[in-house]
Amino acid sequence: MILGFDIGGTNLKAGVLDASGQILRRETVPTPATLAGFRDAAEGLISRLAGEIRLSGAGFGCPGIVRPLDTLVECLPGRMDYLEGVRLSDFVAPWLRAGAVVAADNDARAALAGELAFGAARGHRNALMLTLGSGVGGAIVSGGVLLRGHAGVAGHIGHLTTDPDGPICLCGNRGCLETYFSARAIEVEALSAIQRGCESSLRTRFAAQPLSVTCADVFDCAASGDPVAVAIIERAVRYLGGAIAGLLHVLDSEVVILGGQIAQAGPVLFDALRLDVNLRTRRLLKRSVPIIPAQVGEHAGIVGAASLAFSG
Ligand SMILES: [Zn+2]
Repeated sequence: MILGFDIGGTNLKAGVLDASGQILRRETVPTPATLAGFRDAAEGLISRLAGEIRLSGAGFGCPGIVRPLDTLVECLPGRMDYLEGVRLSDFVAPWLRAGAVVAADNDARAALAGELAFGAARGHRNALMLTLGSGVGGAIVSGGVLLRGHAGVAGHIGHLTTDPDGPICLCGNRGCLETYFSARAIEVEALSAIQRGCESSLRTRFAAQPLSVTCADVFDCAASGDPVAVAIIERAVRYLGGAIAGLLHVLDSEVVILGGQIAQAGPVLFDALRLDVNLRTRRLLKRSVPIIPAQVGEHAGIVGAASLAFSG
């Protein structure tokens, strides 16, 4: 059995998988606020999941920058910064059988590892994955290798510059992709349209509480034809399409996989994006690169983390 352990800002999710990737047991607990609390929670989870069985492998997915082979957390800003300098493999050591593989990586790369092993990237040696949520995460497999770069930063597609003079991004740059295409960016545009008094079903629905408008609401209104919502989504998709087209020209990927909450939007996102990317890339690539949803599903964090140990 292989353990998959998904470390998130809100919850710790872990499960044990058989060799075919089926989750046999899984459990979720809230993410503790201290290192001592984390150690207790992690060891408790692993002990309950493994029981008497010795694990043949374990994989950890974690935000930030993690060294894959020795599982050391190098950089993790925010409320889980207590994990910086911690070796994640220490938590699982007592439950491992001799020769067990232990691996760790950031959560976006873990998600792509899951898609490579069991999902939409199976059989591909060149794939690009974007996780579309409040920000934009990414991971790249090129020539069969999951790219990490010199310092483990490779794949931060959300911080690809799409407009040199655009809004300031949390990374310190201007005009990063996620300042134009992300749940946060789309919500900010919708909010300003409501506050400006634009005639739209967004204003009808959210005039009393404009701050409660979500990215999913904007996609819903766009799907039902609201012109303001359509205009917001069209612009955001053009930025995403431009970024993906540029990446395809650089990486020559076989497939583009979209995960994360915004990928649930369905045809209103995928149809427009496929059209945009195809128009931008067809001359150089001479083919239409499939843009498809992630397939691993609901427990992608656990399956992805475990896949790091399968492939490690
Ligand atoms: Zn940025």
